[in-house]
Amino acid sequence: MKRVIALANQKGGVGKTTTAVNLAASLTATKRRVLLIDSDPQGNATMGCGIDKHAQSRTSCDVLLGDCSAVEALVAVEYGGFMLMPANQDLTAAEVRLLTMTVGREFKLRNALAPVREDFDVILIDCPPSLNMLTLNALVAADSVMVPMQCEYYALEGLTALMQTIEQIKESINPALEIEGLLRTMFDPRNNLANEVSAQLLEHFGDKVFRTMIPRNVRLAEAPSFGKPVLFHDKESRGALAYLALAGEMIRRDELPGAPVQPDTPDTPDSPDTPDSPDTPDSPDSPDTPDTPVLPDAPV
Ligand code: ATP
Ligand code: MG
Repeated sequence: MKRVIALANQKGGVGKTTTAVNLAASLTATKRRVLLIDSDPQGNATMGCGIDKHAQSRTSCDVLLGDCSAVEALVAVEYGGFMLMPANQDLTAAEVRLLTMTVGREFKLRNALAPVREDFDVILIDCPPSLNMLTLNALVAADSVMVPMQCEYYALEGLTALMQTIEQIKESINPALEIEGLLRTMFDPRNNLANEVSAQLLEHFGDKVFRTMIPRNVRLAEAPSFGKPVLFHDKESRGALAYLALAGEMIRRDELPGAPVQPDTPDTPDSPDTPDSPDTPDSPDSPDTPDTPVLPDAPV
């Protein structure tokens, strides 16, 4: 696992923010020191962590523009136990200001993070749904990119553009940038197209595709409205278990580089006989604070 991981996909609504918030909580649950950076003017990661994006005096906007240091902009996430650099619509103005700069505009986030890099085991950056200056700053600051994606027809088309951008950044400004992995989100194994796209992904990207798949799960969708990661909303839901499995897969890959990956079976972790709908919640409400979880294996 690389220290600074950008969650990027210029396609909107693919699960970048859901992954950022819930992976931050899952990695924290395994005793990693985690920082989540909201680098999207929508401020969804901020709100999803229970932090009021309108009430912040210092945000990633101020950090990018050099108006405050990274450490000055950090807030502690109560339900999660990690640190957050919040964002709100001010970030749009920051992007415009960056565009007018001629020198070093792509390095603003990288330089700002340098003093805090060693204070965290993992720094996750939630990118906006665009290949803009904010995403570019994230990709220059990052050691690797995680690409959440839905297994649908147009997903592959967008992926080509993203991969080209990553390649260009590697060749020019950040040669060390790697692909952390492609993450299949909102996966529904009953959907034939999803299975086909998933098979194509595995064929093209092989080990770069995480074996863990994130199922479509109503608990994941409703957790942000409580301002909590799903682990603190319903720790036994399939969504919570899937993000713990993802954290486990990342840690295992880190500790055992080159270890054989488990075979992929597209019909888990969701199961055809347990449809996910608001009428069929995954499990009864659970207490707010999760026990230290035992990481489940990536679904096989
Ligand atoms: P944007 O590009 O706008 O930043 P995003 O890629 O960050 O979007 P999310 O905000 O994480 O995507 O997810 C989009 C919507 O899908 C949200 O309403 C979220 O709650 C829902 N969602 C994400 N993942 C899941 C899931 N596994 N199961 C059910 N709903 C999900
Ligand atoms: Mg988002």
